[in-house]
Amino acid sequence: MHEYSIVQALLDQCEEIAKDNQANRVTKVICKIGVMSGIENHLLQVAFDTFKEKTLCENAEFIINSQKLKLLCQECNFEFEIDDLIYKCIKCNSLNIKVIDGEEMYLMSLEME
Ligand SMILES: [Zn+2]
Repeated sequence: MHEYSIVQALLDQCEEIAKDNQANRVTKVICKIGVMSGIENHLLQVAFDTFKEKTLCENAEFIINSQKLKLLCQECNFEFEIDDLIYKCIKCNSLNIKVIDGEEMYLMSLEME
């Protein structure tokens, strides 16, 4: 499953950061998931709970923040967020737009001790 490999990579990343900071354990993991990333939040939660055992994230709280699709119009420089899958400027109707957020998943922050 897609979510499983994502979580494994995420846990590896958390371990690395924790080790770099000489932390003994991670208490909170906050992620941002783009609506267009194709990731199911609840599946990600389940995967996290499954794989966190015996890692530094074992007792970590996992928080998922949804990120709407954020677009930038390259004609009028208008920046906006939308729920729908319309890749069009809502101000000038231009199709010359760029996705600036909402397609990926990011690790936003870690709390550790
Ligand atoms: Zn525009």
